[in-house]
Amino acid sequence: MQFAVVGNPIHHSLSPLLHNSAFQALGIRGFYGRYLLESNQAFLSLKSLHLKGANITVPYKEIAFQSCDEVFGIAQEIGAVNTIVFKQGKLLGYNTDALGFYQCVESLNPKNALIIGAGGSAKALACILKEKNIATTLINRSRERLENFARAGFHTATFESFSPKTAYEIVINTTPAGLTNDSLPMDSVILTSLLESAKFAFDLVYGRETPFLNLAKSLKIPRCDGKQMLINQAVLAFEIFMESQKILIDRAILRQSMQDAL
Ligand code: NDP
Repeated sequence: MQFAVVGNPIHHSLSPLLHNSAFQALGIRGFYGRYLLESNQAFLSLKSLHLKGANITVPYKEIAFQSCDEVFGIAQEIGAVNTIVFKQGKLLGYNTDALGFYQCVESLNPKNALIIGAGGSAKALACILKEKNIATTLINRSRERLENFARAGFHTATFESFSPKTAYEIVINTTPAGLTNDSLPMDSVILTSLLESAKFAFDLVYGRETPFLNLAKSLKIPRCDGKQMLINQAVLAFEIFMESQKILIDRAILRQSMQDAL
């Protein structure tokens, strides 16, 4: 029983570590690998890998959505799929990024949120926040990517045109700023004032303390990086994979094994 994560680049992905740890802890004979797919054309040959299921990462989540025979849950609204099950020659698509993120913040019971960035992950977060009736504003460096969000009814602004009308309880960085350098995603004076009035700061980047999280730390704002979201989306994907194989699993062992793996 084989599964894999596919994307480009893929060498850095922690998904094989998470899923293989779960197989081992649960005593299930399964293997989870990784494939570098270099083009949309290569992505379309995914079926020929004879996998039972796959996780999809950048830049193929949208084409994965378009390629699925059926798409379930919030993935329909997001228009992006990060989990695929292969069943009787059909591709069934799901999105576990959105709920994986929400599980990180739901105990805060927020009324509103500010998302910095307007890319693929921002779309997943905005959709689940909207579904949970949390008023969401998106701000971005460039205008183009904001247009779809504005059409969908979100408050949007470019960094230049942004003037905060309220305090945002959660401030979320969905840009890769700080992943490989020491830059903040936006102007430090405005970001400092946003964080000073926030209850929680969340950065999707994981594996390094970003300047965004360092700023939140210096202001003593509770914060979280993207590691827990990564684990949550993997737990949800693994459950979908096993359900498709009609294999019952112990959820507590699953979560613990992935938590311990990182
Ligand atoms: P996209 O490429 O789809 O979007 C990136 C967004 O960030 C765009 O809005 C872009 O703005 C903005 N941006 C890029 N660089 C900068 C910068 N230097 N300063 C300010 N804004 C910038 O990426 P994704 O949404 O797919 O992923 C974003 C990040 O989230 C990545 O670091 C990824 O690793 C992480 N991620 C983490 C997950 C987890 O489980 N923890 C899950 C998914 C993603 P513009 O439109 O102006 O170009």
